[in-house]
Amino acid sequence: MSQLEQMQYQGIPEAYRPPVEPVAAAGGRHRTTTVEKGGNKRNLLYPDAPEALPSPVIDNHTHLDFRDGKVNVSVQQAVDAAAAVGVSGLIQVGCDVPSSRFALKAANEHPQVLAAVAIHPNDAARLAEVGELEQAIEVIEELASEPRVRAIGETGLDYYRTGDEGRPAQEESFRRHIEIATRHGKALQIHDRDAHEDVVRVLLDSELPDKVVFHCFSGDGELARICNENGWYMSFAGTATFKNSTGIQQALALAKPELILVETDAPFLTPHPFRGRPNASYMIPYTVRFIADHRRNGLLETCEQIMANSLEVYGAF
Ligand SMILES: [Zn+2]
Ligand SMILES: [Zn+2]
Repeated sequence: MSQLEQMQYQGIPEAYRPPVEPVAAAGGRHRTTTVEKGGNKRNLLYPDAPEALPSPVIDNHTHLDFRDGKVNVSVQQAVDAAAAVGVSGLIQVGCDVPSSRFALKAANEHPQVLAAVAIHPNDAARLAEVGELEQAIEVIEELASEPRVRAIGETGLDYYRTGDEGRPAQEESFRRHIEIATRHGKALQIHDRDAHEDVVRVLLDSELPDKVVFHCFSGDGELARICNENGWYMSFAGTATFKNSTGIQQALALAKPELILVETDAPFLTPHPFRGRPNASYMIPYTVRFIADHRRNGLLETCEQIMANSLEVYGAF
């Protein structure tokens, strides 16, 4: 790597910088862009770390086990980079049996990590097709009793990636996850993609746990009103910062302060102005600053509120 390149990368947390070896050592250049399906060029560099927050917050939904950006970052490195900018803890979220087991292991080994376990709605549809959904849900039920598992999620409905034929399996799986959360007294973390109406229908029709969270809240003012009425939490991700997210921003303005959470859903949904680049928990201050500005609240007050809400939902780390 040239000196110029090294200087360029100085704002990126060390563990997230592009590897020096072996490509540069061999006289070659590592690639920091890739061409995606459809021909779009994508920048694979992790963005610079933001200025630290004045008071700590929790990233309440992340996937440390999904790799992006061509670097291998350990749980400890991710936790350290996050802590350096005021992100003192995170919820590691499972989507299937292996990733749910990974979440529990990470939570047991790291005091800054708590786990959520579930079969993602898209995985639920896929597993149902091959007759393996039942077994998978049984494992989630087992993991749910673990003390460092504090949420059942992500579960819910996804009509964007799964077609009509997968919907009955998704709904059945969603209902089973709600039962597990209620039985074990854990928070419910909902994945709702293009399925607001049916998610609300299932929730209103179920015996719910105390804490219900819409992860990566993607509704508008109408859904925010429903959440406000029912005391359901709204977790805002980088999508809230996008220029065309008028519906989410309307919801953000309306949400009761005691129901607001923040998340990265990393490595996805990198906040503005780094949309499209890889994401990580250390990036959350960009979204927190947007939330504070958009609601015309102070940054310190916003951080303190988000922290209090996070501890209310997931308990102490
Ligand atoms: Zn999700
Ligand atoms: Zn997720």
